[in-house]
Amino acid sequence: MDASLDPRRAALKPRPLARRLLAWWDVNRRDLPWRAATGETPDPYRVWLSEVLLQQTTAAAVAPYYARFLERWPRVEALAAASLGEVIEAFAGLGYYARARNLHACAQEIARRGGRFPDSEAALRALPGVGAYTAAAVAAIAFGEPAAAVDGNVARIMARLAALPTPWPQARAAIAAATAALVPADRPGDFAQALMDLGAMVCRPRNPDCAACPLSADCAAARAGEAESYPRRAAAKARPVRFGAVYFALRGDGAFLARRRPPKGLLGATLELPGPPWRTAEDGGANAARPFAARWRRLPGEVEQVFTHFALRLTVYVATITAMPRDSGDLFWVAAADAPSAGFSSVMLKAIAHARGGAL
Ligand code: SF4
Repeated sequence: MDASLDPRRAALKPRPLARRLLAWWDVNRRDLPWRAATGETPDPYRVWLSEVLLQQTTAAAVAPYYARFLERWPRVEALAAASLGEVIEAFAGLGYYARARNLHACAQEIARRGGRFPDSEAALRALPGVGAYTAAAVAAIAFGEPAAAVDGNVARIMARLAALPTPWPQARAAIAAATAALVPADRPGDFAQALMDLGAMVCRPRNPDCAACPLSADCAAARAGEAESYPRRAAAKARPVRFGAVYFALRGDGAFLARRRPPKGLLGATLELPGPPWRTAEDGGANAARPFAARWRRLPGEVEQVFTHFALRLTVYVATITAMPRDSGDLFWVAAADAPSAGFSSVMLKAIAHARGGAL
């Protein structure tokens, strides 16, 4: 473990730290729709669903999605019985569609087990698509196991408390171990949620409010007046660029042709405009092979999207057609009004807007 994270050293004293954090949380906790009221037993399905939806986004963005999911699929068995397309459609706009696939696969596994979630971190971790963070969060919040749920928010708090010189994510294992050493045996779920709330409300990425923080006495970064400079960042690597082309075939009533991507892989099972596979400059740049014959017109400009491991530049072609082409393969019509909620990824929604001259 990185020496500055070692709880045996002076800075991080688990019991007083947890006590201060929980006392703050008892007064300041956020009232979130997926949280059990004080004294109420948390429902594992709701905890799991909210944790999956919350990955990479904020509570405010998730709240309407959570409400719709719960209304449509109030129990895990109902979610398991939905089609993957329906689940992806319900995710539209929330991004990271691999989560929709994992959510669906996990619901089906739980339904096979009679609708009961396993009650330990290790068993939860073995479920399809359940990562270390989600397993620990559900184990702590729904089942009271002293598990340490470490996401980017918690890592930021820990890096600041210890003024950790190692950049995230190289410090991932050390931060997980240090967080685990702080979890109190009597209120592990509250501790996990208190850290989440501290990260969202006080120890924010920018402008952390150290004056209002219950942990300021424990915090090496705040003492040094350098809170915002933690976590340290690794030097950014240049992202490679991929190039692609998409084809927007428009009918007189505004409907256009789309297809569904394969279930596995990047943006798996989302809808897309047809086009050849994306290529790198080394592979010869954009391949403009057309999905079928039509009077295609290349639009000026490009659609750009940054993914985790590469940046994408898409050229958009448009054509007006009157009927489904004979060589249309797996294409189908999408009505103009359905486009925003049909299950297209963000990059495809951008491409559709580009093809329509800026409007979705
Ligand atoms: Fe974050 Fe400041 Fe609190 Fe340290 S004192 S944990 S930097 S808000």
